[in-house]
Amino acid sequence: MTDDIVAGAAKLQLDEETGEMVSKNELKKRLQKRAKKAAAQARSQDAAQNLGIEAAAAVKEKLPPKPKADESYLDPDAMFKQGFLAEVFKERPAEEVMTRFPPEPNGYLHLGHAKAIAINFGFARYHGGKTVGRTTGLTTEQILRYAFYPTRFDDTNPDAEDEKYFVAIEETIRWLGFAPHAITYSSDNFQKLYDLAEKLIQLGKGYVCHCNEAEIKLQRGGEEGSSPRYRCAHAEQDVETNLQKFRDMRDGKYEPQTAFLRMKQDITSGNPQMWDVGAYRIPKDQTPHFRTGNQWRIYPTYDFAHCLCDSFEGITHSLCTTEFIMSRESYEWLNKTLGVYEPMQREYGELLPLGVFLLSPEPPPIRLPGWELGASATKADFLGRLNVSGTIMSKRALKKLVEGKFVRDWDDPRLYTLIAIRRRGVPPGALLSFINELGVTTSRTVIQTLRFEQSIRRYLETTVPRLMLVLDPVPVVIEDIDDLEGQQLDIPFSPKDPKMGSHKLRLTKTVYIDRSDFREVDSKDYFRLAPGKTVGLLQIPYPIKATSFSKDGATGRVTEIKVVFDKQGKKPKTYIQWVPEGSRKVEVRVHSQLFKSPDPTAVEGGFLNDINPDSEAVYPEALVESGFEEVRRRAPWPEAKGESKGAGPESVRFQAMRVAYFVSFWCLIAVDTDSTEDKIVLNRIVSLREDAGKR
Ligand SMILES: [Zn+2]
Repeated sequence: MTDDIVAGAAKLQLDEETGEMVSKNELKKRLQKRAKKAAAQARSQDAAQNLGIEAAAAVKEKLPPKPKADESYLDPDAMFKQGFLAEVFKERPAEEVMTRFPPEPNGYLHLGHAKAIAINFGFARYHGGKTVGRTTGLTTEQILRYAFYPTRFDDTNPDAEDEKYFVAIEETIRWLGFAPHAITYSSDNFQKLYDLAEKLIQLGKGYVCHCNEAEIKLQRGGEEGSSPRYRCAHAEQDVETNLQKFRDMRDGKYEPQTAFLRMKQDITSGNPQMWDVGAYRIPKDQTPHFRTGNQWRIYPTYDFAHCLCDSFEGITHSLCTTEFIMSRESYEWLNKTLGVYEPMQREYGELLPLGVFLLSPEPPPIRLPGWELGASATKADFLGRLNVSGTIMSKRALKKLVEGKFVRDWDDPRLYTLIAIRRRGVPPGALLSFINELGVTTSRTVIQTLRFEQSIRRYLETTVPRLMLVLDPVPVVIEDIDDLEGQQLDIPFSPKDPKMGSHKLRLTKTVYIDRSDFREVDSKDYFRLAPGKTVGLLQIPYPIKATSFSKDGATGRVTEIKVVFDKQGKKPKTYIQWVPEGSRKVEVRVHSQLFKSPDPTAVEGGFLNDINPDSEAVYPEALVESGFEEVRRRAPWPEAKGESKGAGPESVRFQAMRVAYFVSFWCLIAVDTDSTEDKIVLNRIVSLREDAGKR
């Protein structure tokens, strides 16, 4: 008999409006009733509009439409088979595809980088090629930043800082299921780059210039860019003079910033990247380079080094964000002029996480045309650009949050660094599937958190086991349990997928339900436990009826509920979850948005004034049923390439059914890295539906 009822309970359905587990019939009835009500409302709205009252329009669905079940598993290679990336391949159908991933190791990666990883590594893998990780060394760009913005590294020993980022970047790539074919350092190419700079001069396409910033700005069209562009006299020097001067630069005969090598491009071009941009400079700060020490006094610019390093490495498709679209012309110009192998650069739209990231106008990590010359980029340009692009991930702002203890660490689940997303329990496959879903085009995509969470939910709903978890437990004593006490119930991990197996749960005289599933005073529109009211317990043969309860005199909190089985009554409409006596105590952390407004930096007094004080709710007394041990043993859930070896605790994931009424209907849960053998900490990955507070 138990089996029948358990099987029956497995067929229960979720009422998404109230979050209750109800029988099929009850759900049907409720839906009909609501449809009627909605129709009536629509009629009155029509009437309102007819009267010219504009009130109805705003009621439109806020959430993106609920995806159909068959959309759950998109072809993970879809983004390479059609659209932008398919066209890129068609343009150059290389037999041995070689891509590269060159992040600047000056901070933790964020969602936008996940897209870059998915594209660069995925593209190569799809076409049977390889990807070079130019990741664990300083890029030339960063060398420049060391040189020109040394204050950005004033916090700690830069090498130690960077080492941390290098490790995190590589771990993240592997976690996403990819592996770099090789890890290269731009600095390994310094001699080759230098030789090519001499070659450029010999070709009459490079000259040593001594102009200052103001002069360069004038040459490039002045403040407004409206006056005629022209070349300085240095552009007329002969090859011998340029060569000698360049060698003098190398040999330390010039003071820092008094001479630099410019490419002789095309100042009539409409593209500022062609207006004789810099190729080599003498940085002001001559601190030894972390790999080449004092060997070099001059360093190549990004514009000079990047395309050549791509060329040296045999990159077939150099895929970057549209931020570099202007650079494509100079990229092609330099490789062609020097007669070296020419990779193909193409630009895709970047992923911009909006609202959840912090804006900071401070350090200039993005490149602007002409920035290498230090001339045309003003702070206003920079800010304007930021406004366009929405947000950037600012290391400095994050640091304030971490050091001010507003968050737990750089990987706090409320943040959107990739290490935070990982700690929160988002599986690598869900992240890749989200990027795939968005597709790759040349336009920028602004990420909405709702959409991100919906994608994760869809990915996990059918692939992780279900367990019962009670956040704020209150004991329920089943007074007439008699011979049912100690009975073993066989609980499936998934109601739909028998392959996930099942686990045993022992019924005890005292069980625990969530405090929010009991009311001291019953009412007609209330369907869960209350004195005299009957409710079903998930997976238990008979419903229970509350007979009495006791309270703590001081706090007024309910301390115990007494119930009896309602063996004669009809089938309950609603079922609640419970855990038996002896269940494991765990700490559950439920996170929500860290900031109150979508643009925290626009808030008066800065983003720290916008922190949501309730962004982390902690339930230290939560109880999880014993099936957890098996779920933990069998992790990762779901199986994933990147998590197959050395998976962290966050790969222990499950779905908790209707955790607490006010928190969410169903939660997707993962184990937090703060866990120890004695104390398990769980994070909510996402809720099934984001309408906390609904009662
Ligand atoms: Zn000059």
